Amino acid sequence: MPVYTNYKWTNLHENISFTAEQYHVIYNRNPDGSTPIGFVAKWNSGLNNIKTVLRDAITNGKPVKVFGGGWSLSDIQKTTGYLINANALNMIEPGLPATQVEPGIPGNLYCLAQCGASVMEINTQLQQSNLALSTSGASDGQSIVGAISTGTHGSSFTFGSMQDFVEGLHIVVSDTLHYWVEGNTRIVSDVFVNNFAPGATRINNDAVFQAALVSFGSFGVIYAVLIKAEPIYALKRCQKYFPWVTIRNFLNDPSNIAGLGLPVANPYYFSVLVNPYKLDATVVSVMEKVAFTPQMPPTSNPSFGPSNDVLHVIGKVSSIIPHTIPTIMKWLDKLIKKQYKEESNVVSIPGYTFMDGTSIAKGKALSVEIGIDVSQALAAANIIIPLCNVTPFPGIITFRYVKKSKSTLAFTKYPVTCAIEFPAPFSNQTNNFYNALYPALDAAGIEYTLHWGQCNNLNDINVRTKYGDAAVDAWIAARQTILPTNALQTMYANDFLHRLGLDELSVV
Ligand SMILES: Cc1cc2nc3c(=O)[nH]c(=O)nc-3n(C[C@H](O)[C@H](O)[C@H](O)COP(=O)(O)OP(=O)(O)OC[C@H]3O[C@@H](n4cnc5c(N)ncnc54)[C@H](O)[C@@H]3O)c2cc1C
Repeated sequence: MPVYTNYKWTNLHENISFTAEQYHVIYNRNPDGSTPIGFVAKWNSGLNNIKTVLRDAITNGKPVKVFGGGWSLSDIQKTTGYLINANALNMIEPGLPATQVEPGIPGNLYCLAQCGASVMEINTQLQQSNLALSTSGASDGQSIVGAISTGTHGSSFTFGSMQDFVEGLHIVVSDTLHYWVEGNTRIVSDVFVNNFAPGATRINNDAVFQAALVSFGSFGVIYAVLIKAEPIYALKRCQKYFPWVTIRNFLNDPSNIAGLGLPVANPYYFSVLVNPYKLDATVVSVMEKVAFTPQMPPTSNPSFGPSNDVLHVIGKVSSIIPHTIPTIMKWLDKLIKKQYKEESNVVSIPGYTFMDGTSIAKGKALSVEIGIDVSQALAAANIIIPLCNVTPFPGIITFRYVKKSKSTLAFTKYPVTCAIEFPAPFSNQTNNFYNALYPALDAAGIEYTLHWGQCNNLNDINVRTKYGDAAVDAWIAARQTILPTNALQTMYANDFLHRLGLDELSVV
């Protein structure tokens, strides 16, 4: 497998870079470079290659991190030791036969995916089996494990985040120790484990599983995930401009949006996009699930998918940064009008609605995303929008809505979380705004969490006030179960984990 030394790595939006002592690119291949014959043999060749790197890291006392798409804007993937590129580990198996699941489990709905499989690749495979993901982010370029590891979400206030459709994890911590982890209920059979995770110890424990889902690479290498998909469905969507004075009345209750008069009977998705300097034109997107029919055109408006991903939009134009409020206002107005067209009753499958992530080019951008209880959404907006007039913000503000996650440290921790995102070009001005935002919310008494994969100001004190001692302690205890020695706990820690006090060693 290719290995590079002193490798300078940069994330997609070029705000995080570091030098890894060794950079390993892992493939599903035999040690001699040949491709194994047969699905299971190929699957396990990638596993053996991961184990080889981990054995070497343990022998040499090096920390290890894996990355997927490299889309995160926080330093969660940073390492000075061994960095593993898992992109080529992208095998996907939709539909499990009855022998591979426990009695009563509908194997046809399950999909096994290697860690590097992108959301787009999984969508494609699922579509061919008449299945679909229950939710996803706005676009599809993340790897499946990278996405769940930070709690990636869309705006599905009736489902949750991406980690919420995962029901099994294959976690590899060394060349000799690896686990198949599920919640309390067994989903797969021992036949499955013998095939796809041979030699793994089975763990069926809600506390360990729920902590491991959103664990930003600090529980070991997650080699594969078991996804529970849904029978394929379609989404009917409407996008319309409304004045802020109308929209703000709906911010605290997404289930109320029928009152907007859009032709969506049973909303599943609601998002609001705001130019804080032009409040007469906020963009509202609403979707509902409808039955899929084979006659349905696969995509009806290719501009919708990429253009709906605000961070993508900002990343594309990040070299032009206006500085004064009037220029920011005009610049954002032009950008929004170009990217977000009004549309009504457009029907498409999820994989063609949240798409085009793989075409996103590098470009300097920043983003912060806070999670608040939905009942606080308007109160937060009433702090944030005036703040933009005191500390100029050259970016867009979006409001999305997500049902509570089952994962211990998910940032979508409220019964319904309103996720407010602040994507903007990479600039001092953007950072000044972020530095003003946190104390303004704190001073107003608005409790909030922060997306693990976006810029944040988390430290060992505020991580506990935001997530609670019980959740943080349960997460650390689960990590120590998976990583039973201090040496392993140190191997999967990094500066980010240390700064947050999440790298606590077990007492031996
Ligand atoms: C253009 C753009 C659009 C975005 N849209 C959304 C959105 O709509 N909703 C949302 O919630 N977020 C969004 N984000 C944030 C993004 O979804 C998250 O940062 C996500 O984690 C990125 O996935 P990735 O595959 O790039 O992971 P990476 O950034 O590569 O990694 C994320 C974390 O996962 C760990 N990891 C990756 N693979 C493994 C593995 N195999 N084993 C163990 N640990 C692993 C890494 O070490 C790291 O800690 C967006 C980001 C960008 C740049």
